Amino acid sequence: MSYDRIADLRQKIISGVVSSEEITLDILSRINRSNLNCFISLLDATEQARAMDEKIKAGFNGRLAGIPIAIKDNMRYKGSITTCGSALLKNAHPDYEDCEAVKRLKAEGAIIIGKTNMDEFAMGSSNTTSAFGSVHNPLNFDCVPGGSSGGSAAAVSAGLVAAALGSDTGGSIRQPASYCGVVGLKPTFGSIDGSGMYALSQDMDQIGPLTRNVDDCKLLFEILSGKHTEVCDCHGLKIGFIKEYENYYNDDTIKVIERAKDILKPVGSFVEISAPSVSAAFATYLVLGNVQSANNLRLIGTPDSRESNLGKEVKKRILVGEYVLAHPEIIEKAKRVKSKIKKELYDALDKCDVIISPSAPSVAFKFSDSRSAKEIVYSDIFTQPPSIAGLPAISIPCYKRQDGLTVGVQIIGKKNAEGLLFSIGRIFES
Ligand code: GLN
Repeated sequence: MSYDRIADLRQKIISGVVSSEEITLDILSRINRSNLNCFISLLDATEQARAMDEKIKAGFNGRLAGIPIAIKDNMRYKGSITTCGSALLKNAHPDYEDCEAVKRLKAEGAIIIGKTNMDEFAMGSSNTTSAFGSVHNPLNFDCVPGGSSGGSAAAVSAGLVAAALGSDTGGSIRQPASYCGVVGLKPTFGSIDGSGMYALSQDMDQIGPLTRNVDDCKLLFEILSGKHTEVCDCHGLKIGFIKEYENYYNDDTIKVIERAKDILKPVGSFVEISAPSVSAAFATYLVLGNVQSANNLRLIGTPDSRESNLGKEVKKRILVGEYVLAHPEIIEKAKRVKSKIKKELYDALDKCDVIISPSAPSVAFKFSDSRSAKEIVYSDIFTQPPSIAGLPAISIPCYKRQDGLTVGVQIIGKKNAEGLLFSIGRIFES
């Protein structure tokens, strides 16, 4: 399979230039040859592709007819075990049903090729907490791919699959997209049905696509959400930059902002905006996210099986969650700060059409680089505020260093403004 857009590849399949089975076999052999460890399990893709080729011969022409797509291993696929990257679920009962996102992809003809590796229970920013081993970054084997949807981002970046689904609570699609040099969208909270996905923090979790280009991202978003997005004229655009984000910039991320300004100058004007509460986003995320994770994890396994199977990071978060649950005043305070962050971002988006920032505060780091707790905390510093506010945000490849490592630009939009995010994203590709 070449680096075709999905729409072009589909055209080749439905016109008989190539069959879905041929593409699927090619992809399976690439996955088998790859040493990136992107997948936890592979599915019955060859059977799916053969059946799809028959359907296509009989006239089926869905928007994903015959296209192989991967899903993160926290989403259910009938007959497979959903592990969430955890030893706790390694021998769980196979799923009875597909998750809603898979149903929608399949209805358009997608071949679900396999389930991608991830940080255990989607907790992490490096994909090093998976019980199934770390994923490697295709841009540099010695570097992490980001997380928690690192398997999905790395598989798309390495050309192992046309596109993949991830989930994003505080940055888990956008940060690995930034590290691996691909497009990643966290849609407006609630716009894609998450039924059949394991919850980390159900007030922020959102399924979204990781793709090689903006058009593929738009196509998948439209299929998953059931919405049509308009491509708009970006001339006259007002582009906001959050002043307080500058505290976290470094040489690489300054280049992202400079490049973004160069690219967008011909279409828009820039405004500086202030959102002081973004600096409290991490603490808010930690409190509200971990309370829900701790509650959710109580429903899986037994105290003994959790004790013997869960990794350190997950146990740490359960402890934080349990502590906070015993101190309701902390939860109340975090909820007040959440409202403030939301109000400040909504007010900012009254003064501009979109907000731009780096997607991550650095390029991908090396496995050997022992990060301080503070640096790990900062991995999601730019992505958590829009998550807390429920706003859509996309990461687009923007800056490539001489050593090949990348940082994306994050474009944050108003609620349900995905169409504008895609339109601006295209400018970065042209
Ligand atoms: N990296 C963040 C965390 O560890 C985000 C996780 C996510 O979005 N699922 O919580």
